[in-house]
Amino acid sequence: MDHFQLRDGVLHAEDIPLTRIAEEVGTPVYVYSRATLVRHARVFREALSGVKDPHIAFAVKANPNLAVLKVLSREGYGADVVSGGELVRALEADMAPKDIVFSGVGKTDAELLQGLEADIGQFNIESQEEGRELAAIASRHGKIARCALRVNPDVDARTHEKISTGKAENKFGVPIHRAAEIYATLAALPGLDMRGIAVHIGSQLSSLEPLETAFAKVGDLIAELRAQGQTVTHADLGGGLGVPYKTGEILPSPAEYGAMVARVTKPWDVAQSFEPGRVIAGNAGVLLTRVIRVKRSSNASPFVVVDAAMNDLARPAMYGAWHDIEAVQPSGAKSVSHIVGPICETGDTFAMNREMDTLESGDLAIFRTAGAYGATMASSYNSRGFVAEVLVDGDKFAVVADRLAAAAIMDAETVPDWL
Ligand SMILES: *Cc1c(COP(=O)(O)O)cnc(C)c1O
Repeated sequence: MDHFQLRDGVLHAEDIPLTRIAEEVGTPVYVYSRATLVRHARVFREALSGVKDPHIAFAVKANPNLAVLKVLSREGYGADVVSGGELVRALEADMAPKDIVFSGVGKTDAELLQGLEADIGQFNIESQEEGRELAAIASRHGKIARCALRVNPDVDARTHEKISTGKAENKFGVPIHRAAEIYATLAALPGLDMRGIAVHIGSQLSSLEPLETAFAKVGDLIAELRAQGQTVTHADLGGGLGVPYKTGEILPSPAEYGAMVARVTKPWDVAQSFEPGRVIAGNAGVLLTRVIRVKRSSNASPFVVVDAAMNDLARPAMYGAWHDIEAVQPSGAKSVSHIVGPICETGDTFAMNREMDTLESGDLAIFRTAGAYGATMASSYNSRGFVAEVLVDGDKFAVVADRLAAAAIMDAETVPDWL
C-alpha cells in the first residue's frame, strides 16, 4: 500500500496534489511519501516478530537521501552502508554507529579506518584479504573490529543478472565451502572480533525459495563452525525482497518472508540482522515528469517525450525494468504509446507500445515505484544536471534535495591555463 492516490481527478502524494509540487519545484522531481516509508518500515519489522530482537539496517544505496534516512532512523532503523560516503550520511541522519553495518567488496583502507573510528556495529568482510587488512589497521589503531564473514552460497536468486550477488561467479563474499577455514584464520587475528556470518544473494527477488536455500546453507555453516570450536553469535541475512513494479504483480509479502526466516533460523540461536532496501523505499517514491511534446511521425505509436530521462531514472535503461506510468490528471482516455526521455541514446526509453493513459504535450505523469534505486543512480549525462527530490508528510512538503543545475556541475570543471 502507498499514499500516491487519485483525489478529485488529481494524483496526490498524501494530501498534496502533485500538480502543486510540479508548479513550485519544477520537473522532473522525485516525490517521496513519509507515511509510506513509515508504513513499510513498520510492516517489515512486524513481519520479523517471530525472530528474537531483529536488527534492521536500511540499505542506504537504495535511497541515500538524508531526509529519507532520518525518517527511517526515527523508526529505529540502522543502516547498511557500502562506502565512506554512505557512512557519513547514516551518521548525519542520526543513525547510531552501533546500528551501522559496512558491506562491499572494495572497502579501501581509508574507509575501513573511517568505520573503525566511527565505531560502527559491524563490518561484513567479503574476502580473506580484506579481513587481514582490517585486522592490521585495527591493531595499529588499538581498535577491535566487530565482523561477520560474508559468504557466497552459490545460489541462483533468479533475478536480473546485474543484481544477482550470490552465485559462485559473482564477486561477493567468500565461497561457502571455504568459509569455515577463512573464518578460523580471521578469528585468530588480533584486531578482529569474528562474531558471525552474513549473506545477501541479490535484489528484487520474486521467490523465497533461493533465500531459503541460502539461509539453510548458512545454518549448516554455523553448525560446522561451532563444531570446530568457533564462536558464532550473529547472522546477517541481507536484503533482497522484491516489490511489485507492475499493477497486479504478486510477490512474496514481508510477512511470508518473516515466517520463512523464523522457521529456518529457529535453531541458530544468534542475533539476526536484516538489510532491506527496495522493499522499504521502492513504493514510497514516484518520479514526477512533464510531457515535453508528443511526436507523431507515422502510423505507429507516438513517441511521448517526457522531461525525465535515463540520467534521472536509470533502471529501465540499465535493467530493462518496468515502471508503471500514469497521468497525474487522467482524462480517462487510454492509448498505446512509446515513453521516452530527451537523451540522445535509444536506451533512453521508459516504455515501448505501452497501453496507458493518453498523454499530451504539457501533461504531468508519474513513474511509480521509483523510491529505490531512483535518484541515487542519477547522473548528469547530456549535461542535464541532477534531479530534485521532495518529501511529503501529510499536508506539507519540503525540497529535500535541490536540483543541481548543469551550470553548477560545470563550475567544478577547469580549463587549464595552458589550453
Ligand atoms: C543492495 C544490498 C542490500 C539491499 O538490497 P534490496 O534488494 O534493496 O533489499 C542489502 N545488503 C547488501 C549487502 C546489498 O548490497
